[in-house]
Amino acid sequence: MEIYTASVNLLAITPNAEKLIEEAGRTCYLSLDRITEGSETNFIRRCIINGHHSILEHASASFRVLGASRAFTHQMVRHRLASFSQQSQRYVNEEEFNYIIPPSIADNDEAKKLYMQFMDNARQTYKMLRSMHIKKEDARFVLPNALESQIVISANFREWRHVFSLRLEKAAQWEIRNVCIQMLAILQKEAPSVFGDFIIDEATCTARSNIIK
Ligand SMILES: Cc1cc2nc3c(=O)[nH]c(=O)nc-3n(C[C@H](O)[C@H](O)[C@H](O)COP(=O)(O)OP(=O)(O)OC[C@H]3O[C@@H](n4cnc5c(N)ncnc54)[C@H](O)[C@@H]3O)c2cc1C
Repeated sequence: MEIYTASVNLLAITPNAEKLIEEAGRTCYLSLDRITEGSETNFIRRCIINGHHSILEHASASFRVLGASRAFTHQMVRHRLASFSQQSQRYVNEEEFNYIIPPSIADNDEAKKLYMQFMDNARQTYKMLRSMHIKKEDARFVLPNALESQIVISANFREWRHVFSLRLEKAAQWEIRNVCIQMLAILQKEAPSVFGDFIIDEATCTARSNIIK
């Protein structure tokens, strides 16, 4: 089965995340008495502008990503301060693997035909190796980067901001931008004081912070 678009589910987020960040941050200044309804917004924004980003580490969010490729996950797992649990190619049988088709290939009939033939061949070769009692951990060497791979990603808010600033630049790859923009949109709703400075450009699937340093 072929897949074109990745989807993102928020699995968990720190409850009252912004209030927790404010309470932690105000401990630095012993200004807990200034906590009121809505006071977190200005406090958090000021801290971000001033570079006091460590307070954002008190809150975190976890996402499940479906329908993205192994090429995507390979880029994502480079973020060392995040935590990952990814579908194993040693333990999961990939005889009926799904794969992602990049839009540039999906939009080109000739390229798409060639690409799908290659995927069929890879699938057949994998199946034949398995039928020869080759272990999954070795048969997987013929699996393509296009393979769909499930992954759960957890990170604190400081790291998510870092991920978005790198992966939502126009220089970043289309698939990781596609996933990250979905995660950013969710976090902007959940924690607008922390993520609201990122301006999303849906047309180019990019985002950048409007904070000028
Ligand atoms: C457009 C683009 C193109 C890329 N191309 C390539 C490529 O061709 N080849 C390639 O190998 N990678 C490539 N990468 C991946 C890139 O080099 C990083 O590995 C990846 O973006 C993770 O970034 P990071 O290390 O800043 O983030 P994280 O690992 O998420 O770390 C967050 C921050 O923590 C700090 N930190 C973490 N670990 C350390 C440490 N050990 N020492 C000091 N500080 C640390 C740093 O400040 C870091 O920015 C590319 C990334 C992008 C966005």
